[in-house]
Amino acid sequence: MMELKYSPYVLYADDDGNVFEDNSLYVVGRTGFYAKPIPKEDFIELPEGGSLYTLPHRRGVGIDVETGEMRLCDKGWAVAAFVPPARTSLYFASFMNEEEAPTLPLFCYTAVGWYEGQFVVPAARIEQDIRQECEGFDQEIVEQGIVEMRKRYPHNRVVDHLAENCALSYHCPAARNYFMGRWEAPIPSSPACNSNCLGCISEQPEDETIISPQDRLGFKPTAGEIVEFAVDHLETAPFPIVSFGQGCEGEPLLMWETIRESIIQIRKFTQKGSININTNGSKPDAVEELCKVGLNSIRVSTNSVQKWLYDPYYLPNNYEFEDILESIRIVNKYGGWTSLNYFVFPGLTDSEGEYQALRQVIKDTGLKMIQWRNFSIDPDWYLEKLEIEDTSETMGVKTLMQKLKAEFPDLKYGYYNPPMERINGNFELDFARV
Ligand code: SF4
Repeated sequence: MMELKYSPYVLYADDDGNVFEDNSLYVVGRTGFYAKPIPKEDFIELPEGGSLYTLPHRRGVGIDVETGEMRLCDKGWAVAAFVPPARTSLYFASFMNEEEAPTLPLFCYTAVGWYEGQFVVPAARIEQDIRQECEGFDQEIVEQGIVEMRKRYPHNRVVDHLAENCALSYHCPAARNYFMGRWEAPIPSSPACNSNCLGCISEQPEDETIISPQDRLGFKPTAGEIVEFAVDHLETAPFPIVSFGQGCEGEPLLMWETIRESIIQIRKFTQKGSININTNGSKPDAVEELCKVGLNSIRVSTNSVQKWLYDPYYLPNNYEFEDILESIRIVNKYGGWTSLNYFVFPGLTDSEGEYQALRQVIKDTGLKMIQWRNFSIDPDWYLEKLEIEDTSETMGVKTLMQKLKAEFPDLKYGYYNPPMERINGNFELDFARV
């Protein structure tokens, strides 16, 4: 935590994307519809791997250093920050849209300020695991791994997809970790989905102005393709995990028969590591079939644990909000690990209604972990699409985290799926040694 003597200054950008500080204005944060001063203790230096965005046709909001009044920065365009994984953003950037402001692409727009030569952001390091620290990736080793795995599995469409699309085009950290032979390996398996998330990163409706940053997987892998590289990874990687359900596919539970067969075959060859599924949790019956054959862990994604906020975002096909909670209950019943992949929207996530609903879900389902994820979405577009006209008084994301931890001391916080070494052993692993 930084010890700031004063609030950081607002940043603005010119038409060429050059960024400047405006030292007549202190930076503020956005929560829901409202601009708010940010407590100094909430700032951290923008970590390596972070980046800045110019927000087109948007003016930043700040507090006048002299008058203490909130006003717009009219020197240039608003600026926001991308906060790298393992840190949870506590406030959106605060800005006012001009008439012609286009919808922003699917990134997370965190407040950012300038303080004594540094970019600083209101965020909290929620995960000590270093698996996606950008300084930990070596592209040369990734490319060597790609050559080696393609030679080892010449006819494997999944390995080819992970190489060509995920590691080399999207620079997906999970795929790059796989080709570096470590930690969590992705297993995309489903070209289809039974949700229609507004912020889907693998498929967006033709008539939508925003585009999905990845293309949806175009084939259905066989269990054979999955098993041959998954067993090898579980056997050889440190802290090994294989995870079904990735950003470049639809919903893996729609491929549950293939996944079930894969788990059966994998466990014939190795008992090592964790077999995890990242999912929308829509099919609890399928989840039970996977638990019966050895699924170790589930991560259920959601923008909210309130149906009135869930339904207009996920637009579910043939399943109900309650089904996702039932999927968590079932994995707990079989002794598996259960996480919520929780998209944090300051102004909604930290509302009293969401807090009370979250308490109930934790009690009812026995949830073991919350992964506090930054919500990659244009906040105005999201509020408009969910037809939210006002956001109530909020407690602050940090306070929400503290209140839940006080009531549920065994509830774990993080950003990534934990390996078996953390699930069964010391959850607070010393990652400096990994
Ligand atoms: S569940 Fe995943 S793949 Fe399906 S619509 Fe939502 S984000 Fe897209």
